[in-house]
Amino acid sequence: MAIPDEDVARVRAATDIVALISEHAALKKQGTRWVGLCPFHQEKTPSFSVNAEMGVFHCFGCQRSGDAITFVREIEHVDFVEAVRRLAERCGVTITEDPSATADRQRRAPLHEAMAKAVDFYHERLLSAPDAGPARDYLRSRGYDGEIVRKFVLGWAPDDWDALAKHLKASSKVLEDAGLGFVNRRGRQQDAFRARVVFPIFDPSGKPIALGGRILPAPVVGDTAGGGAPGPGPGAGTGPKYKNSQDGPIYSKRRTLYGLNWAKHDVIENGEVIVCEGYTDVIAFFQAGMPRAVATCGTALGEEHFRLLRNFATRVVLAYDADAAGQEGAGRVYEWERHHEVDVAVAALPPGADPADLARDDPDALRAAIAEAKPFLAFRVDRVLQSADLRSAEGRAKAAEAALAVVAEHPNELVRDQYLMLVADRCRLEPDALRSLARRVAQRARSVPVEGNGSRSERSGTAAPRPGAGAGRTDVAERGPKRGADVSRPGLEALRLAVHRPEEVGDRLEARLFPDELQRAAFEALTGADDLHEAVEAAERTDPRVADLLRRLAVEEPATDADDVVVTLVRNASRRALAVAEAQARLSPNSVGEIAPVIARVRRDLDELDDGDRSLVAADRLLAWLVGRDDTNE
Ligand SMILES: [Zn+2]
Repeated sequence: MAIPDEDVARVRAATDIVALISEHAALKKQGTRWVGLCPFHQEKTPSFSVNAEMGVFHCFGCQRSGDAITFVREIEHVDFVEAVRRLAERCGVTITEDPSATADRQRRAPLHEAMAKAVDFYHERLLSAPDAGPARDYLRSRGYDGEIVRKFVLGWAPDDWDALAKHLKASSKVLEDAGLGFVNRRGRQQDAFRARVVFPIFDPSGKPIALGGRILPAPVVGDTAGGGAPGPGPGAGTGPKYKNSQDGPIYSKRRTLYGLNWAKHDVIENGEVIVCEGYTDVIAFFQAGMPRAVATCGTALGEEHFRLLRNFATRVVLAYDADAAGQEGAGRVYEWERHHEVDVAVAALPPGADPADLARDDPDALRAAIAEAKPFLAFRVDRVLQSADLRSAEGRAKAAEAALAVVAEHPNELVRDQYLMLVADRCRLEPDALRSLARRVAQRARSVPVEGNGSRSERSGTAAPRPGAGAGRTDVAERGPKRGADVSRPGLEALRLAVHRPEEVGDRLEARLFPDELQRAAFEALTGADDLHEAVEAAERTDPRVADLLRRLAVEEPATDADDVVVTLVRNASRRALAVAEAQARLSPNSVGEIAPVIARVRRDLDELDDGDRSLVAADRLLAWLVGRDDTNE
């Protein structure tokens, strides 16, 4: 970490979180909390809450939560260090930054400066230089007017060895580290981009960090509007169609999405981001009135991109052509959905269509393709069924089996079953017959990691649902109402008390009273830390879901008496433990003599739990029994 922890804590303590958030949302006092409309998502009734005392916020609508630093990070789209810096300035706290971080920033500053200058240089060349005529003609032929060229700061890298290097007069180290040029064999500085239309790449805050360059297609004969000879110069039209900056100190492909700096506001407003394959696709979506598209820069969509996107969107629409989308590994997609709590959908682009052509020829079709985007699994099932022969009974049976293999990869059982019914319907089969087939397909998939089941391009590294894959946000649904209603509520209430009125629950709570794994982890994080912030920070490192839960609890208020909650938890835990003890007694008749009196006593205590006066004493006895039991696998 670049800023010492003590300084971070001082900044946090000095920040008035209500005043800070009030700059972005109207907050009203309600009890001990402040509530208002969420600044991160569109809503009509307030679900955004702030706890001023603890300095945390939570939205029950979009589930965003955090402290003042998180708030600044997400609302201003800056990193942790930058957020702390801004808050420090705001509340007048001086922070001492780690010298290595300062040095790092000092090393990057000239690179950013050189990159900004290069972007301006190329942009000016495109707008006015005579040698950029063919580039201007090409862009006009793609439907790019002056407004688009200026908005995306497009440029032209002249067909010259060192036009940029001469202009920048930077050191060779800066030129190379920024990815703008290199030193050639004759020891002279040479430009990295030559005779290319330049698409500058910005970070989310709008700082240029890299370049993408496209060669001009073969000369357009007869179009000499710009004056001079038609077509590009001798160096043009060679090399790969696209050339991108290499990773360096200011640029990492894996963490960059082209267009996010322009798209972020529309993405936040819609909760949706469109991910496409190239710079021109992004621009096409802007032209078609959907300014929420981004593209990866010469690399596959990956984990770090999702980490970035989850700050902005809850729905990710892949606008790839169908074959490319079909290649996306299902296991990875479901993991992203689970881990980053986003839904991944696939745009219904007509076969062979590319968003750029569609935006120009039929923008309505492009809009419809996004509006009708299908969940990733629906898209895959459709692809299998569309390529199958559903006219014969044999064809339908084969298609059902292939579709089931695709369905089997989804981690959520309820989702799987709904798709199974859909497949049954489309293939005219009984759902129950398909369910038993599904079990066989799943078993086979487990023994063969990559299946060859007729769904040609459908390939996945993780064919079988992974154990524990449903442990994320899907688990509430999978557990069903039985557990959700009876068990998780007192646990949550106990945690609320532990956060807000720890003196009341004191040492009457134990980790094993929480049957829910997440709640238990939250409780352990709380008891293992001095305060809530420390607990949240520790949890952030081990399990971010626990950190989210703790922040949510901080803006909720306990509604129950501590005694009631403790009694309820003890009762539930004792009943579970009692059932185990009774089973043991049945299994090992020899130990009945030992176990029977314990069982009798526990039963008596359980009865006394409901007896007003004796209730708390009984609860203490039961808790002692629970803690003393060495059998923990209930
Ligand atoms: Zn929200």
